[in-house]
Amino acid sequence: TPALEIRGLRKTYNNGFVALKGIDLEVSPGSFFALLGPNGAGKSTTIGIITSLVNKTAGEVRVFGHDLDRDPQGVKRSIGLVPQEFNFNQFEPVGEIVVNQAGYYGIPRREAWDRAGHYLNELGLWDKRENMARTLSGGMKRRLMIARALVHEPRLLILDEPTAGVDIELRRSMWDFLQKINDDGRSIILTTHYLEEAESLCRNIAIIDDGRIIENTTMKQLLAKL
Ligand code: ADP
Ligand code: ADP
Repeated sequence: TPALEIRGLRKTYNNGFVALKGIDLEVSPGSFFALLGPNGAGKSTTIGIITSLVNKTAGEVRVFGHDLDRDPQGVKRSIGLVPQEFNFNQFEPVGEIVVNQAGYYGIPRREAWDRAGHYLNELGLWDKRENMARTLSGGMKRRLMIARALVHEPRLLILDEPTAGVDIELRRSMWDFLQKINDDGRSIILTTHYLEEAESLCRNIAIIDDGRIIENTTMKQLLAKL
């Protein structure tokens, strides 16, 4: 079963704007997949639909065989999302943010702390677990969102522009961490408008422009063409 399968996906927003004009995508399990495109191409809309934040107008979405229409809970459980904007409570302690997220998936508190501790540690945030989120640097906040997205052990991690506004040194260390997560067998999809990021990480790539997929290939083949 593919990690992600999208067929004929369309989105018309309430104001009549057609953001997705019929998208087909297939992402194999274990992939590190880039969805590359300029601002306004439809990347966030696509991610929003997969993660139930945006209603689709037409088309089919399946995540590890779970159909978004018939089994939205199965889709949700299979996905960890790292959104573009910081959307945690800035006045909550770092550890609580990750543990509470586990709570939404019905994971008991003790086990939640074990898992949260593991990812906070891996992401260099264990020492900050009792600090309020607002005291973290921008890069730490981004890592906090990654820990939070992984705490229910999703098979697919989706990151929307993960290193937007992150300086080059931290970007490298985030790339290393994501590579490790992928080596452990987790499928990863990231959106980016930045070819170098996709090139450093991703074996497969789709290019989206103006609501259409205009290229869907391996990174190797794409680079050979450029
Ligand atoms: P939907 O069609 O999914 O119900 P809406 O059209 O109701 O979505 O818009 C959802 C939200 O996005 C609204 O708060 C709206 O103000 C905001 N929004 C509207 N236009 C844009 C835009 N061009 N880019 C980003 N957000 C927008
Ligand atoms: P990307 O993530 O590739 O930058 P988006 O998916 O955010 O692109 O947006 C695709 C297009 O849809 C843009 O033109 C954007 O202005 C428009 N758009 C996004 N959200 C809304 C909304 N809620 N209502 C109307 N238009 C929207």
